[in-house]
Amino acid sequence: MCVVLGSEGAMPCLLILQMACETECRPLGVFKCQLCALTAPYSYVGQKPPDTQSVVLLEESYVMKDPFTSDKDRFLILGSRCSLCSRLVCVGPECSIFYSKRFCLPCVQKNIDAFPQEIRQDLEKRKVPSKRPASQPSSRT
Ligand SMILES: [Zn+2]
Ligand SMILES: [Zn+2]
Repeated sequence: MCVVLGSEGAMPCLLILQMACETECRPLGVFKCQLCALTAPYSYVGQKPPDTQSVVLLEESYVMKDPFTSDKDRFLILGSRCSLCSRLVCVGPECSIFYSKRFCLPCVQKNIDAFPQEIRQDLEKRKVPSKRPASQPSSRT
């Protein structure tokens, strides 16, 4: 372990850390939500992120290492594909829901009758804050 501070030992330690990161944290590509503007580099796609012992995800997901911690077991789920239209969507509440599979919100709205009451109510709740005209030019001259 590298706890050597302020001596010659510090430099090689830094180098090793950087090299390890280059091979481990190299992103596979950039995840892009097709409904909102979210983009983020992902480092794994699938159901079992590397370095996690017991984690199995319920769906094939785009995963990145949690950049806010050095803990190897921590990762963030960015999003996954809609099981109906296979659009790539993030897990944000305005883009998709997970109901045994991943569904993007446009697909949910199209097939709302197929979803149970609780999902419908949940969606109603989500819709409320964004019921405002986007722009109202008020130019009087
Ligand atoms: Zn999104
Ligand atoms: Zn969809």
